Amino acid sequence: MTLIDGKALADKMAIALKDKVDALKAKGVTPGLVVVLVGENPASQVYVRNKERRALTAGFKSEIIRLSEETSEKDLLALIDQLNQDSQWHGILVQLPLPAHISEEKVLLAIDPEKDVDGFHPTNMGLLWSGSPVMMPSTPAGIMVMLDEYGVDIAGKTALVIGRSNIVGKPMAQMLLDRHATVTIAHSRTKNLAEVAKQADILVVAIGMGNFVTADFVKPGAVVIDVGMNRDENGKLIGDVKFDEVEPIASLITPVPGGVGPMTITMLMEQTYETAKRTLGK
Ligand code: NAP
Repeated sequence: MTLIDGKALADKMAIALKDKVDALKAKGVTPGLVVVLVGENPASQVYVRNKERRALTAGFKSEIIRLSEETSEKDLLALIDQLNQDSQWHGILVQLPLPAHISEEKVLLAIDPEKDVDGFHPTNMGLLWSGSPVMMPSTPAGIMVMLDEYGVDIAGKTALVIGRSNIVGKPMAQMLLDRHATVTIAHSRTKNLAEVAKQADILVVAIGMGNFVTADFVKPGAVVIDVGMNRDENGKLIGDVKFDEVEPIASLITPVPGGVGPMTITMLMEQTYETAKRTLGK
């Protein structure tokens, strides 16, 4: 078994990114990432601070726009429109979840697809599914980079993605399909899940249930990617995969923490950089 060290890879990519950003700045373009946070959700506060810190470390211009919980949908949409027009911002992120009185769908639709560095806009989803991705959701994009970094041969392999969310499961399945894996997507209605999972050479788990995937789900020698981020009864961060049981069977496995998580923000930064680079010569 080999551990896929997402933290080490993210650190390595952060150093390379800084150099790429310096070169772009020398050509007159500074990547800009603006993050909009509505309300006081404590987890969201941590996420947006991390994103801003990573952006500044990479040499980007970055700003968090904090709005009160009472902000109206109309005002938020007007702000997004203004950010869409503002050429200093190459990436616009609206931190989810939004307060209940604001439609997430409307807000995500309002972001200019060319600045949608989360890759959640239907235009970007469609481009991904039609095989011409421009902006991709960061979590599955980071997983693809990890698989490549560790030399996983994807073409012709059997892959199972457990979970069908728009931000992880579905785009993950498409990215694996695009690389010629034979892909199945499982979810809460899948029958005999352990049996289905046991066929997979590559098993990606994105459910949100701590320690759900046990040894009897895993084919010996499989590559196991654990997207889950859950708290156990002691508040410790754990994945969806029961690591101690699965680790001896897998050929490669991501730990939690230190696996998929660090690569997610890395890919967000890479995508913002790429977006800024595309404006060169425009
Ligand atoms: P989500 O939107 O809640 O989707 C969960 C998916 O899991 C759904 O498709 C659901 O099926 C499926 N599911 C639930 N219970 C199941 C069961 N017993 N058997 C099979 N499938 C089951 O979650 P998400 O946003 O994709 O996130 C999944 C996990 O990844 C969470 O722990 C989240 O915190 C974590 N995450 C981590 C990162 C990172 O950077 N590391 C990024 C994003 C998410 P149905 O569709 O049938 O309901």
